[in-house]
Amino acid sequence: MRAEIIAVGTELLLGQIANTNAQYLSQKLAEIGVGVYFHTVVGDNTARLLQTIQLAAERSELIIFTGGLGPTQDDLTKETVASHIGVGLETNQAALAYIQSFFDQRKMTMTENNRKQALVIEGSHVFPNDFGMAPGMAIKDSGSTYVLLPGPPSELYPMVEKYVMPYLTDLLPEKQVFHSRVLRFYGIGESALEERLIDLIEKQDNPTLAPYAKEFEVTLRITARAQSVEQAERLILPVEQEIRNRLGQYVYATGETSLHEVLVEELRRRNETIACAESCTGGTIASLITSVPGSSQAYHGGIVCYTNEVKQRFLDVPEAVLEADGAVSEKTAALLAENVREKFQTTYGLAVTGVAGPDSVEGKPVGLVYVAVAAAGKPTVVKELRLAGKRRAIVGRAAKYALFYALQMQKER
Ligand code: ATP
Repeated sequence: MRAEIIAVGTELLLGQIANTNAQYLSQKLAEIGVGVYFHTVVGDNTARLLQTIQLAAERSELIIFTGGLGPTQDDLTKETVASHIGVGLETNQAALAYIQSFFDQRKMTMTENNRKQALVIEGSHVFPNDFGMAPGMAIKDSGSTYVLLPGPPSELYPMVEKYVMPYLTDLLPEKQVFHSRVLRFYGIGESALEERLIDLIEKQDNPTLAPYAKEFEVTLRITARAQSVEQAERLILPVEQEIRNRLGQYVYATGETSLHEVLVEELRRRNETIACAESCTGGTIASLITSVPGSSQAYHGGIVCYTNEVKQRFLDVPEAVLEADGAVSEKTAALLAENVREKFQTTYGLAVTGVAGPDSVEGKPVGLVYVAVAAAGKPTVVKELRLAGKRRAIVGRAAKYALFYALQMQKER
């Protein structure tokens, strides 16, 4: 099935927003083996949109639109698709009732143009909008299926996950499932990972392997095509095993999670606790950990020890060490981790000190970072990192390395 995506919105053409909906939809279609051949952006203009639709209808079996389903005059996607097909619009009663109840609950009067959002193309299959007012819809005509989705990602993503993917899977000629397992890595970059798996990546067919780097982490999606989830699992298992044989030490989790979520989960499961002394990460680790619900059972607190004075006064790093070794040193990192653990009476003490840039510190280069993990009854582990990138990247990577090393220490205990 050949697919294309048409994003409608003048603000996309003006560069006010990026077309992330097309990126997301392409990924979702790839997951079910549908090839996307074109991304088009067109402004809120009937004639140009019509032209775009006519071209798409000649070359694609699946045409997905995003945007232009709202209540205002310039929202014209469904009107234009309907006129291209040669049908009218009809009110979808469920959508209208939902819109009416939205206004009733807020004791507001519904303006007439909001009724427009409940209009759908005659004879279309309607996708409810659980997070907004304009429903999505799909209609088949002359060998093409037109799918119209709302513009706001907060409405589009859940609609796609819950309603559109099952609809599209049903359209595929051969009944098959696409089932994925995501392996999450830390401590290895995307290119190094690819190099270690290049033979598997090159001969991939079913399952397919897709490495992906985001927010300083690398993930690998293994996707199998089969007649059932169980059958897909059987195809994934040996490939996953081979990947784990090669790179198992870097795999910290599977599925939709993150380093901080896994750490908090593990700490809670084992009834353990952690405290952090953060210099160059300035509270980033604390922020990540406390973004996890229930983290108070595992995270006692921390100290952002940005200056030498704070390292000395609140975390007992001797002046002599700061003078001889410096704030960015193995010794300081170890003392920060041990002392924060002692002061907060936790199972683990985690510390980060480094040079985030843009200027070097103590004659030490930008990107030099020490991460230390202290635990009761264990020698303190200190890792020296040489991180690349600008300030934000160095801080982000340092924080994630710290979480990763804390997880490693936990495994060893
Ligand atoms: P609304 O009911 O909000 O008018 P709509 O379906 O008419 O929704 P648009 O008016 O085209 O959609 O866009 C609404 C908002 O959705 C935009 O301001 C933008 O924030 C977001 N948006 C629209 N299109 C895209 C896109 N292709 N990628 C990412 N975000 C988008």
